[in-house]
Amino acid sequence: MKEKITSRVLESCLENLRQYALDGKVADYIPALSKQNPEDLAVSIYYLDGDCIHAGKVEKCFTLQSISKVIALALALIDNGEEFVFGKVGMEPSGDPFHSIYRLEQNEPSRPLNPMINAGALAVSNMIKGSTPDERVGRLLSFIHEMTGDQSIEVNQEVALSEFKSAFLNRSLLYYLKQDGVIIGSVEETLDVYTKQCSIDVNVQQLSKIGALFANEGKNLQSGRQIIPKHFARICKTFMVTCGMYDASGSFAIKVGIPAKSGVSGGVVASLNSFGGIAVYGPSLDEKGNSVVGLKLLEVLSNRYDLSIF
Ligand code: GLU
Repeated sequence: MKEKITSRVLESCLENLRQYALDGKVADYIPALSKQNPEDLAVSIYYLDGDCIHAGKVEKCFTLQSISKVIALALALIDNGEEFVFGKVGMEPSGDPFHSIYRLEQNEPSRPLNPMINAGALAVSNMIKGSTPDERVGRLLSFIHEMTGDQSIEVNQEVALSEFKSAFLNRSLLYYLKQDGVIIGSVEETLDVYTKQCSIDVNVQQLSKIGALFANEGKNLQSGRQIIPKHFARICKTFMVTCGMYDASGSFAIKVGIPAKSGVSGGVVASLNSFGGIAVYGPSLDEKGNSVVGLKLLEVLSNRYDLSIF
């Protein structure tokens, strides 16, 4: 068991990094995200024994964005099994930006390289079972409620609509995938599920609990129930290592060395076996799309507490 980080240390680390809150840029390609305040910073650690510490704006909600890709992957694996999922989506890092369309045009037929880039994540959303988009989103929400024991987690409809209206590139990716039979059914309905999945609102405490569940090999910390089969939780954490931090996943593995996934809202979730979940929120993003403060904070903690898995 690693040494526990105290809340005082967490608070002082966050305060020291406040100077970087305005470095980078808040995402604005989804118009509703541009309303985020780059000075709203927060961090939470959920230990496997149930202790939880935090610092900053703990109550502040932000949308999961790409962090949802890990959770949707776990549900799609439960719904369809490994063979089906990886028959349609690959397992290799791409080194390309998350919304890149370039590889789809290159591969014949267009099979997304992995479930963490948008093309792969859209294909995964299409695999979540349910007869209507609402039912599929509802199942994903219930899954998150089971993971966290928190029924209050909901979709932020304003962000979902804002993305749905402006998601021209994701629509293009979906049409490629539809052409090659990677997705079935309606493009618009799949986009509806995907944009709502990305717009699920959480605070850092809720997100750190999700990280802790993955660290706990898929078992709910309170009830001990196996929400995600251990093998699937491991697959998700492996993708977090190889492609969780966009095309900065290699340098993140070297500098931090903890399975993690970030999203363009500025959230990052990290999941460390035998330790717990760490969630950071800092809306200002670097040029790769990762939270500037989130990266720095995880690097400081990893170095100081020797958290790297490598
Ligand atoms: N909803 C966002 C998109 O598809 C998620 C991107 C991200 O967080 O990387 O553009």
